[in-house]
Amino acid sequence: MTNQLLNASEIRELAAKLNLKPTKKLGQNFVIDQNTVEKIVRVSGTNTESVVLEIGPGLGSLTLALLAAGAKVVAVEIDNRLAEILPNTVADKGFKKEQLQVVNKDAMNLLPNDLASAPDTLVANLPYNVSVPVILHILEHFPSIKNYLVMVQSEVADRLAAKAGSRTYGSPSVKLQWYADVSIAGQVSRNVFWPVPNVDSDLVSFKRKSNIDESMRQDLFAVIDASFSQRRKMLRSCLSAMCGGSEKASEILKSANIDPQLRGEALQVADYVRLTNAMKTSGITMKSNRL
Ligand code: SAM
Repeated sequence: MTNQLLNASEIRELAAKLNLKPTKKLGQNFVIDQNTVEKIVRVSGTNTESVVLEIGPGLGSLTLALLAAGAKVVAVEIDNRLAEILPNTVADKGFKKEQLQVVNKDAMNLLPNDLASAPDTLVANLPYNVSVPVILHILEHFPSIKNYLVMVQSEVADRLAAKAGSRTYGSPSVKLQWYADVSIAGQVSRNVFWPVPNVDSDLVSFKRKSNIDESMRQDLFAVIDASFSQRRKMLRSCLSAMCGGSEKASEILKSANIDPQLRGEALQVADYVRLTNAMKTSGITMKSNRL
C-alpha cells in the first residue's frame, strides 16, 4: 500500500507547486506520516464496501490511504486550490477517478444532495477550529453515516468523550452522546504534521445510535445549551429564563425527578431527555441562540 501514499517530501513538493502557505484559519496541518494515515484507516474499519465522507482532504494523505483500502471516497474541501489538485494526485497514484468525488465546499453547508452516493462512514482529520460544529452538522444531516472516526485536538477529544460529573463534560459531550456511543481510539503526536501544531491530537470513534428521536433535537439542544450557560449556577437558575422564573424551573425539574440544585454537568443524556419532555408537557417554549 505504501507506494500509493504520499511521503513527506511529496507533500512538500505539492505544497510548493501550489505555492501553498498553510493557514491556521483553515486548520491546515497536513499529515506527513504514512503509518499514521494507515492506522487511521485501520481503526476506522474502512473496507472495499465503504463509502467514506472525508472532510478536509487537504493534499490527500488520508484520502489516498482510504482509496488504497478499496473504499469510495467523497472528499469535501473548502480551499479551491486543494480541491482542484486532488483528482490529479489521486490519478498520479494510479487510482481510478470513479473511486473519488471531490466537493469544493464548506462542510458546514454540505447536504446529502451534494454527494453522488450516500456515505456510511466518516473519516477525517478535522480542521481544529470548526471540529465540533462540523461533527454536529454532519450528524444532523447525514443519518446514513453510522461509523465515525475523527482526529481532533486532544482537549476537544476529552470534551467529546467526557462522562457526566467530569470537569470537561459540557454541551458538546451531551449533544454528541445523545447521537452516538463515543470512545477515544488513540493518540497522535504533533510531530506527524506539517506544519507542526502546538497541540497534540486524539482519534475519537463514534457509532450512531439506531433509536434517535430527531424530532426532539432542537428542544433538547436548547435545554442543554441553557443548562450549561452559567457553569457555576444551579439548574433552576440556568433554566429560569426559559421557564419564566426559577420556581417554575424547580417544579419542572422535580417533575422530571431531577434535583433543582444540581448543576448541568451532573446530568446524563437520559436526564436531559426526561427534562426536555417535562418542559414540553408544561408548555415551555425551548429556544436556543446557539442553534
Ligand atoms: N486530511 C488532510 C491531512 O490529514 O493531511 C488535511 C487535514 S487539515 C487538519 C484540515 C483540512 O480541512 C484542510 O485541508 C483545510 O483546508 C480543510 N478545511 C478547513 N475548514 C474546512 C471547512 N469548513 N470545510 C471543508 N474543509 C475545510
